[in-house]
Amino acid sequence: MSRRPIIAANWKMHKGPAEATEFIDEFENLIGGSSAVDIVISPAFVALGAAKGALANSDTTGLAAQNCHFEEKGAFTGEVSIGMLTEIGVDYVIIGHSERRSIFGEDDAIINAKAKALHAAGVKPIICIGETLEEREGGQLEAVLRRQLEVGLEGLSADKMAEAVIAYEPVWAIGTGKTAGPDEAQEAHAFVRKVLGELFGEEVAAKIRIQYGGSVKPANTAELMAQPDVDGALVGGASLEPGSFSEICKNAG
Ligand code: PEP
Repeated sequence: MSRRPIIAANWKMHKGPAEATEFIDEFENLIGGSSAVDIVISPAFVALGAAKGALANSDTTGLAAQNCHFEEKGAFTGEVSIGMLTEIGVDYVIIGHSERRSIFGEDDAIINAKAKALHAAGVKPIICIGETLEEREGGQLEAVLRRQLEVGLEGLSADKMAEAVIAYEPVWAIGTGKTAGPDEAQEAHAFVRKVLGELFGEEVAAKIRIQYGGSVKPANTAELMAQPDVDGALVGGASLEPGSFSEICKNAG
């Protein structure tokens, strides 16, 4: 089964509208109109509109939001609905990032509500999972990933899951400069695909793209992407500069 790789930039709380536009103009020039991988850029909410405008003529690069609320509307001060995001024209929404889990207290049930709302709205989720160092060292890797998948994806329909993206991001590798080795990444990705097979059937599991995230940079992209179950990357720090992010996209292809 060949899966088209997907490389996503997660800009976190960096770049307002002007900087996002400047980045995209430079990045699109570097990419040069065609790419062997799907590319997605995830600016902060306030920069999504500007980014959409800057990407208007792009054949290579889509747009993601970094979060959403699961309700359609209401008294949720500071939150953004999926309808608001589709009005701007986002293709994907990242949910369950470890920073949302650890800093903002989001649990698997909240992530499940968001995943269901995204599926209902026809927006593709990028669902992040991953273990802490303590959990890995305590022999909990598989139990944690299984729980995050079973609870986070509970009740989702198999046909829509084929379009979803899972991002395996070991928490200890995010923003630390430590990367899972290619073998460690493959082992975790193969386990994730096995659980996806149990939940949604093997045919669907074979279609789901599983990204690796955690200190991905131009120099380690190719070896990670060479692993059979690694179908792309979710990139934080190294996505903030057009040169390094375009190199990652090229090395992934
Ligand atoms: C992330 O935040 O999703 C991430 C992978 O960050 P970094 O690439 O900086 O480790």
